[in-house]
Amino acid sequence: MIVALLGGATIGWFARAARSSASPGFAGELESERTTVETGERAAEPPSERADVSTTASAADSPPRLHADDIAGALQHAVDQIELAVIIYDAKHVEVHRNRAAMALVGTHAGVIVGGHLDEMLLEHTGTEPVERSVELHGPPRQELVLRSARMVDGGSVAIIDDVSERKRVDAMRTDFVTNISHELKTPVGAIAVLADALDGERDLSTIERMSQRIVDEAHRAVGTIDDLLELSRIEVGGVGSDVVDLGEVVAAAVARGRAVDHAVSVTALNSPEPIQVIADRRQLVSAVGNLVENAVKYSDGGGEVQIRTRIDDRNIEVMVADEGVGIPQRDLYRVFERFYRVDRSRRRETGGTGLGLAIVRHVATNHGGDVIVESAEGEGSTFVLRLPASLVVEDQRGANVTKEDA
Ligand code: ADP
Repeated sequence: MIVALLGGATIGWFARAARSSASPGFAGELESERTTVETGERAAEPPSERADVSTTASAADSPPRLHADDIAGALQHAVDQIELAVIIYDAKHVEVHRNRAAMALVGTHAGVIVGGHLDEMLLEHTGTEPVERSVELHGPPRQELVLRSARMVDGGSVAIIDDVSERKRVDAMRTDFVTNISHELKTPVGAIAVLADALDGERDLSTIERMSQRIVDEAHRAVGTIDDLLELSRIEVGGVGSDVVDLGEVVAAAVARGRAVDHAVSVTALNSPEPIQVIADRRQLVSAVGNLVENAVKYSDGGGEVQIRTRIDDRNIEVMVADEGVGIPQRDLYRVFERFYRVDRSRRRETGGTGLGLAIVRHVATNHGGDVIVESAEGEGSTFVLRLPASLVVEDQRGANVTKEDA
């Protein structure tokens, strides 16, 4: 609404700004060039030939010349498109324009606080140096804003409000991630160094064998972490392929992976009666379902049972992996998808897990427009459901939703 009310004044301001920001020669050149384009060529060419003029090499090579008012309109449009909140004031500190992002602040608590700071900042201008302030809003949501105001050539000012909360959060996550990786790799590599040192000069054959085996295990742990990290980064940055993927084959690969982890756990699949073919990234789906099944086996006791079911309805394709294993405490359920999060660090020693498997699963689901759901009870088992939108199903495959025993 304010934009509508200020519209005329704003365009006027932008036009003045467009002129004053250019050298006098440039402003003059704009006017005369406009005359050249509109009248000079028109005068020289009949209308039908004018169209041709614009397609000649020289016309295509040089950018179109615009009138100051056109530039003002384009500038206003451009300022409206950017995500930063921008407010423009005239020389008397009267607001003459706010872009869309700044409009969102109108009538909000944050807007009132920011407005107060900007009023003070406008008075702080002594020369051409911009004035900057960081403002923390306690929220919720907690926000960190950087406010900058700068004098302009016509005596007015421009204030830019930059919400840096997300950037700070990502920076903190990145630092956390690097710390975690360093820690995860330092543990096995450190153990290898200590064991190798202890081996030096060791004569007892059984001790040598035991220590060598531990070195191999620790080396595998480090390689496992590196492999999972590479897989995760491939999934995060690599986009999503559009292969025609048979879900039955994905499940079969996951069953084989589960069985290889522990033969004492029974792994069975109950697939939907019709083959389900989806347009998806084959490698990512194999990785996601494989991780769920591997976990189900890893966190089951010998003699336990793991079941995989696939089903499809109008809205979703679901791959469910259920086990009767140790389960996950309620308080950890919402954190298990975080990178490197493990419920109980002491269980890691037994399973050799990297803490990255479920982060991979969640990424694959999100990449395909789906999600992962988990239900678990300690001591009773866990059920994970990878849910993908039915729109991924190859056209003539839709509709089947009954399950039958497959393997
Ligand atoms: P990890 O490599 O440690 O298995 P994941 O990211 O795959 O890492 O899983 C994170 C944590 O969630 C695991 O350390 C484990 O504590 C818990 N978890 C995952 N799947 C299961 C499951 N099926 N049963 C019990 N706990 C599980």
